[in-house]
Amino acid sequence: MKKCYKCKKHSCLNDFHKDKSRKDGLCNLCKECKKTKDKGNRKNRKRYNLKYYSNNISKYKKYNSRRRELHRIDPRIRLRGGCRARAIEKGLDFDLKSYKDLPKVPKFCPILGIPLICGKGKNFKGGGTDNSPSTDRIDNDRGYLKDNIQIISRKANQMKSNATFEDVEMLYEYMKKQRRKQCQTMTIITQVSYLDKLKNKVINILTLLGIVK
Ligand SMILES: [Zn+2]
Repeated sequence: MKKCYKCKKHSCLNDFHKDKSRKDGLCNLCKECKKTKDKGNRKNRKRYNLKYYSNNISKYKKYNSRRRELHRIDPRIRLRGGCRARAIEKGLDFDLKSYKDLPKVPKFCPILGIPLICGKGKNFKGGGTDNSPSTDRIDNDRGYLKDNIQIISRKANQMKSNATFEDVEMLYEYMKKQRRKQCQTMTIITQVSYLDKLKNKVINILTLLGIVK
């Protein structure tokens, strides 16, 4: 039996948490009292944090702008964090020890060829845009591994996850038809080169999707 320091009740040793810093290796409060005390501490801490935050807003603002600046300089820091969170969420393998394990963010999206812009750009409202860099697992059956990540635009990533092979094919056929109409006044040579370019673009997408090898 042991006496609780707070409620002064005598309880059996099982009713006390372990505490290696104490002589008898047990907490001086019973489990019930410890629970109430911790609850109170949590509330106090919350209140304290809130007060600390309001007293140090400028410090936090500086910290946040520095973080944003870091992301602008090397978006891989944020990208790695996202990979880690999704790996945990989906139970996938993850071996990116540092953000430097990610490939360098290219200037242009390898699928769509649009510029990759981080932080600001067209339609920037604080969130990402079509031009934001995003990570893509090359082989969907494998996790977030050094050799399985490529950085593509968010637009391409969304297209990849939303569009099926048939969708892409239909879009291509539609675009081809539209283009043909527009091309009627063009010379045969420019028509061919136009269609060729379009075809290459689609093949490029399909290759990166892993549909065409
Ligand atoms: Zn107690």
